[in-house]
Amino acid sequence: MHKLKDNVKTIRELSEFIPMDEKTVEKLEDVANRFPILIPRYYLSLINPDDINDPIRRMCVPSLEENEPGGSWDTSGEGKNTVIEGLQHKYPQTVLILSTNRCAMYCRHCFRKRMVGLSDEETVKNFKRMLSYIRAHEEINNVLVSGGDAFLNSNRLIDFYLGRLSNIRHLHYIRLGTRVPATFPALVNDNPALLEILKTYSSKKTIYVSTQFNHPKELTPEAKKCIKNLLDAGVVVNNQAVLLKRVNDDPETLAALMGALTEAGVIPYYVFQCRPVSHVMTSFQVPLMRGCDIVERAKTMCNGYAKRFRYVMSHERGKIEALGVINEKEMLFKFHQAKDPRDCGRLFSVRFKKDRTWLEQDLL
Ligand code: SF4
Repeated sequence: MHKLKDNVKTIRELSEFIPMDEKTVEKLEDVANRFPILIPRYYLSLINPDDINDPIRRMCVPSLEENEPGGSWDTSGEGKNTVIEGLQHKYPQTVLILSTNRCAMYCRHCFRKRMVGLSDEETVKNFKRMLSYIRAHEEINNVLVSGGDAFLNSNRLIDFYLGRLSNIRHLHYIRLGTRVPATFPALVNDNPALLEILKTYSSKKTIYVSTQFNHPKELTPEAKKCIKNLLDAGVVVNNQAVLLKRVNDDPETLAALMGALTEAGVIPYYVFQCRPVSHVMTSFQVPLMRGCDIVERAKTMCNGYAKRFRYVMSHERGKIEALGVINEKEMLFKFHQAKDPRDCGRLFSVRFKKDRTWLEQDLL
């Protein structure tokens, strides 16, 4: 069994698995000094080391494109929505807890690149205050424990979260945000105590795991075993993929991903537009019009259950669904969820150039 401490943490170590010359090692070390590298050996084994464009490689191995700044650190207004250190309240019914800044792997496309593996300034510190806030706000009916990765918390802490939250009557369900099923499934498969904790609390309150599979290659036998273990523990598993350039930006790959998820018992919930995050957007964003075309073509290859997902943007104003291309200069959108309830359900069309990758405030 691989352990977290065996993860690859330096470019030098990585160069033992993936051939690269000394100059490249030095340049990538510079990138990794700013944005840490952490790759489970399991995930590395999914890469074809001879293919520089391998999609799994793109998601975990640093690239020089990460030197491009552009964009911003907080593209969906997380700072403004923070009501207590580590607790965000954007939509009336939902709060989000930043439980840790750690993950099993540091994805190169992460939208919380500002903090993962770096700073724990934004994570929760005062559990008592946080719980009091949730208890006092009866409009909140669900809590998302996120990070970083919720499954990187100790079993004791996960037990604490689920124990305290499942006792709050006005909460209908609890969500755990984790990419562990895709990046390091052994962390669940070899952790019967965690599965027991999930089983205990899922009989009390519905628990959803929000995971992130982005490519069908991630759905290995180990990953499917992890999903099965979660389902057997009584948890509902949703997938929130991200549309990523040269990873899954073609209809066949996306359709294969959604088909494989559905077969494994995972609900394909969202495909997110990659956010304009500094040091991420240049490497990974796909233009919106192209994204819409990819999604629609993928849907034609999927059955009803596999095409339940929505193509959305997590915007400062809310979750905006890209509904379709009207003509080559205009697209149709809808507020699926909104910070201002008056925006909920609002349809709007936007005229723009084909290469646009995000919607600025003045376009809404
Ligand atoms: S697991 Fe999630 S939070 Fe962690 S680096 Fe990957 S995308 Fe970011």
